[in-house]
Amino acid sequence: MDTATFLFDKIIFGPVRSRRLGLSLGINLLPVDSKLCNFDCIYCECGWTGTKGNKATRFHSRDDVRRKLEDVLIQLKEEKVYPDVITFAGNGEPTMHPEFSRIIDDTIKLRNTYLPMAKVAVLTNASMLDRKYVVDALKKADLRILKLDAGTEYLFQKINQPHSKKSLNWIVDHLQYFKGNLIVQSMFLKGLCNGEFIDNTTETNINAWLTLIEKIKPKQVMLYSIDRATAEKGLEKIPKDFLNELAIRVRKLGIDATVS
Ligand code: SF4
Repeated sequence: MDTATFLFDKIIFGPVRSRRLGLSLGINLLPVDSKLCNFDCIYCECGWTGTKGNKATRFHSRDDVRRKLEDVLIQLKEEKVYPDVITFAGNGEPTMHPEFSRIIDDTIKLRNTYLPMAKVAVLTNASMLDRKYVVDALKKADLRILKLDAGTEYLFQKINQPHSKKSLNWIVDHLQYFKGNLIVQSMFLKGLCNGEFIDNTTETNINAWLTLIEKIKPKQVMLYSIDRATAEKGLEKIPKDFLNELAIRVRKLGIDATVS
């Protein structure tokens, strides 16, 4: 069932105050009326992926994205509003856009012209890292923020529900392409999903997840929990105290960690 909880209704949205990035101007390369993703995370704020999301091929054209971004950047400059970051996020997985790489190039050029202090960030589920053009484009961004919510294959399949046959090992192997020059973003939650209790805060999962983090060696880990309505309704937000304790364990590995 395609039950959207929250969808961005524009290509360029915001700027909005982001918990993790500061003042963020968003770019949504996905449809404005439905989600398009190759994962179906139980905590997704855009609702379930559903069949509509998978079949849609209504990516915004590169020209449209460039024109709309330029218009907004000109307007923000006139208003003296200076976002800290231009962030690829929105209603699904941005790296699925067939022109993702060229759109990154356009965005960097526009950023250099109108908002040189801003960083270009991409939030991605890491599922497209077998495409060289995606990896190369992500390397051009200032911030690559990649998802890793589980320490075990079982929880990866349960929490992220990848549509293709991606395994957690595959994701971790491909995250190592960046040689540590990446940020890992991890969602912690627990709750009932299809009658099964899902919990990635158990000591077993945390130990396994920390082992993967040590292997990937990101320059930072962003820890967070649920903030808005989620696709699966039975999920609970994890208290900040737990995330703060976990951040201490990450820092003991010599890796920066933030909690939001
Ligand atoms: S990867 Fe992101 S957009 Fe896709 S289902 Fe998960 S949370 Fe939603």
